[in-house]
Amino acid sequence: MRKITIIGAGQAGLQLGIGLLGQGYAVRIASNRSAEQIGAGRVMSSQSMYDMALAFERELGIAFWDQECPPTDGVHMRAGSGDQLLIDWRGLMCAPGQSVDQRIKMPVWMAEFQRRGGELVIEDAGIPELERYAQTSDLVIVATGKGEIGKLFERDNELSPFDASLRTISLTYVHGMKPREDFSALNISINPGIGELVNFPGMTLSGPCDIINLECIPNGPMDRWHEVKTQEEHLALAVQMIEEYFPWEAERCRNLRLTDDQCTLVGRVTPTVRKPVGYLPSGRTVLGMADVLVLNDPITGQGSNNASKCANVYMQCILDQGEKAFDDQWKNATFARYWDYAQWVAKFTNTHLLPPTEPVLKVLSACGRLPQLAAHFSNAFNDPKMLTPWYYDNEEAERFIASFASQAA
Ligand SMILES: Cc1cc2nc3c(=O)[nH]c(=O)nc-3n(C[C@H](O)[C@H](O)[C@H](O)COP(=O)(O)OP(=O)(O)OC[C@H]3O[C@@H](n4cnc5c(N)ncnc54)[C@H](O)[C@@H]3O)c2cc1C
Repeated sequence: MRKITIIGAGQAGLQLGIGLLGQGYAVRIASNRSAEQIGAGRVMSSQSMYDMALAFERELGIAFWDQECPPTDGVHMRAGSGDQLLIDWRGLMCAPGQSVDQRIKMPVWMAEFQRRGGELVIEDAGIPELERYAQTSDLVIVATGKGEIGKLFERDNELSPFDASLRTISLTYVHGMKPREDFSALNISINPGIGELVNFPGMTLSGPCDIINLECIPNGPMDRWHEVKTQEEHLALAVQMIEEYFPWEAERCRNLRLTDDQCTLVGRVTPTVRKPVGYLPSGRTVLGMADVLVLNDPITGQGSNNASKCANVYMQCILDQGEKAFDDQWKNATFARYWDYAQWVAKFTNTHLLPPTEPVLKVLSACGRLPQLAAHFSNAFNDPKMLTPWYYDNEEAERFIASFASQAA
């Protein structure tokens, strides 16, 4: 039986580990936190996930929250400042998304992994542990997210356009948000040059909730999170920013309460792509996965989706390799197969971190006039690859918009 060790019990590591168990592999996962520690810890993400990524969970029989988790049915996109909205449209997605707090999901998946015969080791894996696992496994995969050990993988300067974060990110889980009147949505509001508000429903430890992401441009008026000392101050500042910079959402935020005492987070992410093969001092090599190799700002809510899609690609590549060695050529080819998709996610995300380009403005404005285009665009969160080429090229944008305009005529 082939033995695979995965470092990191997050979306990517657990989904791949559980998938491989089902295919007859012996799988060990090392996690630096126990299920209890994850469950009792701080929120880590807003983890909105869409149909394609959820389908991979469903295939493995680990989508346990389909009935309980409130759905996200569509997208509502607004851009403007003061009381003036320059862009305001909404579209239903083909299939609903969902966001299950990782503090619920990962502990349940860890138990499920063990129940299906996986070996779970609680340890903070460093180089000596990787060496040990590389010696005793056919393959070692590092799926440690933003953890330090990921620096073992060399930054790919060509594929990493930024050397600093482009947003300060504030995350708040709340109860008491007034429901939208039409459908539950991925509510995106852009205040140009200042920041973004992204909100959607989720399920947390205390039940259905709303999740608020504020993406704040560094050194701008929303970049004030260093002033906050308590969670109550965090919530008050979030509400104040919504009233000031996204006033069209203020009415929904009059009676917000924090969901628990670990439900806020402030951080920064430098979007980074790394090379897939990590070299250990012994000369043995390991393969990186998901956020370790392709880390995006959460502005477009894609990282957990990427992790699920990466787990699916890696599993296929492992199966395709049969009994052959998981050598460096295979490791590079496996990442190339993932990057074939993930590059479009990075492009979509990085585009939204910068001032809007002409084709982006054209498309987002046209969505307001053309509901079918708006619905089409709403599905881009499920599969950002579909935005190519028309979201990034002026002439292609015009042609694409015209094709929807002629349908509408
Ligand atoms: C504020 C915020 C909001 C987000 N919102 C969204 C969203 O709405 N939608 C979306 O799709 N994505 C979102 N993301 C991104 C998403 O959460 C991540 O991309 C996703 O969790 C990555 O999965 P992963 O398995 O690669 O890593 P992780 O989920 O980070 O899991 C890695 C695991 O490895 C463990 N680990 C680390 N180092 C070690 C070690 N040395 N030894 C053992 N274990 C180790 C960690 O403790 C962790 O449990 C958001 C991220 C942030 C920060």
